[in-house]
Amino acid sequence: MRWYVAAIDQSTQGTKALLFDEKGGLVGRTDRPHRQIVNEKGWISHDLTEIYANTLQAVRDLVKETGIEREQIAGLGISNQRETSAVWDRITGEPLSYAVVWQCSRAADICRKIELEGFSERIRQKTGLPLSPYFPAAKLSWLLRHSREIREKAEKHELMAGTMDTWLVYRLTGGKVFCTDFSNASRSQLFDLRNLKWDEELCGIFEIPLESLPQVRDSDGEYGMTDLEGFLPKPVPIHGVLGDSHGALLAQGCMRPGMVKATYGTGSSVMLQTGDRPADGGAGLSSSIGWKVRGKLSYVLEGNINYTGAVVSWLQEKLGLITDPSETEFLARAADQEDKTYLVPAFTGLGAPYWDSNARASLWGMGRMTGREEIVKAALESIAYQIADVLGAMERQTGIVPDQIRADGGAAANRYLMQFQSSISRIPVWVSSLKELSGAGAAYAAGMGMGLYDERVLYAAEREEFLPGMEETERIRKWKGWREALRRTLD
Ligand code: ADP
Repeated sequence: MRWYVAAIDQSTQGTKALLFDEKGGLVGRTDRPHRQIVNEKGWISHDLTEIYANTLQAVRDLVKETGIEREQIAGLGISNQRETSAVWDRITGEPLSYAVVWQCSRAADICRKIELEGFSERIRQKTGLPLSPYFPAAKLSWLLRHSREIREKAEKHELMAGTMDTWLVYRLTGGKVFCTDFSNASRSQLFDLRNLKWDEELCGIFEIPLESLPQVRDSDGEYGMTDLEGFLPKPVPIHGVLGDSHGALLAQGCMRPGMVKATYGTGSSVMLQTGDRPADGGAGLSSSIGWKVRGKLSYVLEGNINYTGAVVSWLQEKLGLITDPSETEFLARAADQEDKTYLVPAFTGLGAPYWDSNARASLWGMGRMTGREEIVKAALESIAYQIADVLGAMERQTGIVPDQIRADGGAAANRYLMQFQSSISRIPVWVSSLKELSGAGAAYAAGMGMGLYDERVLYAAEREEFLPGMEETERIRKWKGWREALRRTLD
């Protein structure tokens, strides 16, 4: 009988169930969106009960749509939206609140207070992360401060706190397992990156009881058994857990230090594997744990950019220059290649590595002949310049010069952009044909942990490679233009 590994990718917009075959190929996918609960203050929440129900339903849909037998599922992996934070009752297993979504900044005041108390540098040093309301520490602190019920549960030692992976594992195992993995723990801002433990001092600063936090396990470790509430004929192991970007890095095969992946989505996450020691973030980069698989811990350095694929949506929705993102490729090719227009997409300030929340976007360097094609070209190229700048910051922090960029995400389908990225960064760019990389990473970790997958088979996925192809004088001229446009925007 053929076997499959299933993955649950619990993401911001929905919960996906994915099916991978014996070679790690994606053979089925279902998706169950959930409500984005936004209040008048703009706070964003998710309903934990709804997401758990969606998880079960997504797997049922997957089995139906692919036509496999239920007993062919050998095991499960889970990848998850990172940082989204939840609390539930240790006695009943019921949620004590909606989950606070990663994008939600309701805990900003808590961070401001902690900053005034002078703890931010100490927090950054211990956790590798800049003090921010985006991480679970401040979110859990907010929940405890704003709900008497949650505080009372904490006092009675009846509080459980965690991220979406922990919630799903807890429910799928009927409340038997209360665990997270190293990647998720390292994004909590409560975890000591070097001692590999929940940190008492940090828990004290954020006023979070350490005993309410889950046990931390290997990313390819055992997370108990589940029969998906009676859906499977017999229980199977949950054997892999990874934060979504970490899953994508693993599925891209970035198993050695110095390897880099860049996700070209609405925004971008650029992640560099730094091996068995954490790199110093600085320059707006964050340092965390990539994973612990096969008993080996790998650290990562990460830079996040707000506007990459989103500039293409802006061309479509606000300027009306295109009706579909895929049109940008031939328009950029048709543009006058001598045109010197640059777009600096600081629509919501600039993220890594510039960190200027006051910066405003600009189109700079237009000439009389600059038109639709040239603006589209400038927009695509702005994606590549920003990624290249993050890679440059990573190189300055670590001395590592990657020999390849492994690309994924919606805009990685754009061959003009991938070619330009390769040329401007002077690095080959490798676009994997595999989709759903976050879930794939969790499935691979699970399959490897169960001894089902052989690493050599997994990373044989087809790819398209783009090689640098630009005269050096031309490349330098373009870089100078981008620097100048940035300088004028940031001034
Ligand atoms: P996310 O997971 O962040 O929602 P995706 O990975 O699905 O994002 O990528 C969507 C983004 O990629 C959108 O902003 C879209 O404009 C952009 N995009 C999609 N296809 C292309 C393309 N062929 N060329 C350029 N950009 C594209």
